[in-house]
Amino acid sequence: MLIVKKFGGSSVADKDRIFNVANRCVEEYRRGNDVVVVLSAMGDSTDHLLELAQSVNPDAPKREMDMLLTTGEQVSVSLMAMALDALGVPAISLNAFQVAMHTTSTYSNARLKRIDTERIQNELESRKIVIITGFQGINKFDDYTTLGRGGSDTTAVALAAALQADACEIYTDVDGVYTADPRVVKDAKKLSEITYDEMLELATLGAKVLHNRSVELAKKYGVQLVVRSSLNKEEGTIVKEDTTVEKMLISGVAADKNATRISLIGLKDEPGVAFKVFNLLAKHHINVDLILQSIGRDGTKDITFTVESNMAKEAMDALKNQQSMLKFNEISCKENVAKVSIVGAGMATNPGVAAKMFEALYNCGVNIKMISTSEIRVTVLINEKDVDLAMQAIHDAFGLGTTK
Ligand code: ADP
Ligand code: ASP
Ligand code: MG
Repeated sequence: MLIVKKFGGSSVADKDRIFNVANRCVEEYRRGNDVVVVLSAMGDSTDHLLELAQSVNPDAPKREMDMLLTTGEQVSVSLMAMALDALGVPAISLNAFQVAMHTTSTYSNARLKRIDTERIQNELESRKIVIITGFQGINKFDDYTTLGRGGSDTTAVALAAALQADACEIYTDVDGVYTADPRVVKDAKKLSEITYDEMLELATLGAKVLHNRSVELAKKYGVQLVVRSSLNKEEGTIVKEDTTVEKMLISGVAADKNATRISLIGLKDEPGVAFKVFNLLAKHHINVDLILQSIGRDGTKDITFTVESNMAKEAMDALKNQQSMLKFNEISCKENVAKVSIVGAGMATNPGVAAKMFEALYNCGVNIKMISTSEIRVTVLINEKDVDLAMQAIHDAFGLGTTK
């Protein structure tokens, strides 16, 4: 069997953790399996590199940011190969160039396009454990790119698909996917299974236990995922197309503090206005999330939307530069807001779910700024300071906790 194992930053944070991972990989290898290991940068090292860059140039070129950030993963893979060597097991580390992991050209948020598997397969055939840098790729200019924060999960799933692996295991610092971030909601419950669709919503809405692109790829290529702890042998959570357990009304609550609200006031109430606004943002590769348009009055209307906080300045600049073309009176920007969402496949057929969520927020005095829904999710925008309170209240209201 061919097994892809991905270990996140906290799982390789120091020498002991590196040997812990090395030993788990050796166990798998000694069962006679082929083992491909994908690693993130050690501990918080990506954050430290970001701080370092910020101190040198707060507006650093994105190409150079990727040159810098890709070093983190190179440290962990080489150390892991050294640890395996020390344990007497043949291993080799490879970075995105050596494998050839081709991505789109966008720095800091590239998408994987194609992975050459020949080198990996040759190394596996010579019975080596192959250790590969997560998070990074190369583009058509032969430059390093990165896949966005948390992107090593996506590297692992893409490799599992390209190599037609028999299993893809994501090892992290919690025992699996929970009904809410177990660091925020103390009685959050571990799920034994979750569907791709639910997991994709949760990941997109802020549950960073999996990178959302990794779930998208897993669904597309039918890669069944297991999310489990690198520190114990608990079973973890299986992410797959359909769960065998009864569909839960709500499978989880997620929060995303990386949101900024932008409002355009006094736009003309005529056809084409929304197109012009969002087309402009799309040209700048800015993803827009919640969108709210007011009812027209006196020939004008307002459009409010959220973007990822790190894109807010670029969005504001782009819109201000085009004020004469877009013809709005005012533009404003509110940081310190956050999205809180509930996700559940059972929601589609059960009325009253949104009302119950709003009631929970009302009961704890949290004001809702924006609302958005889909078949399997409800999202509200609230003040960032209220997030933990809101998550716990919603989690309680739906009886998701272990104590219920
Ligand atoms: P890694 O470094 O292993 O990739 P991450 O920090 O990216 O780990 O993701 C794991 C973290 O995700 C957990 O420590 C937990 O705080 C957080 N998390 C958020 N939502 C959830 C959830 N629903 N279930 C489990 N963990 C969650
Ligand atoms: N090291 C990268 C990050 O911290 C990628 C990852 O951990 O998945 O975002
Ligand atoms: Mg992660």
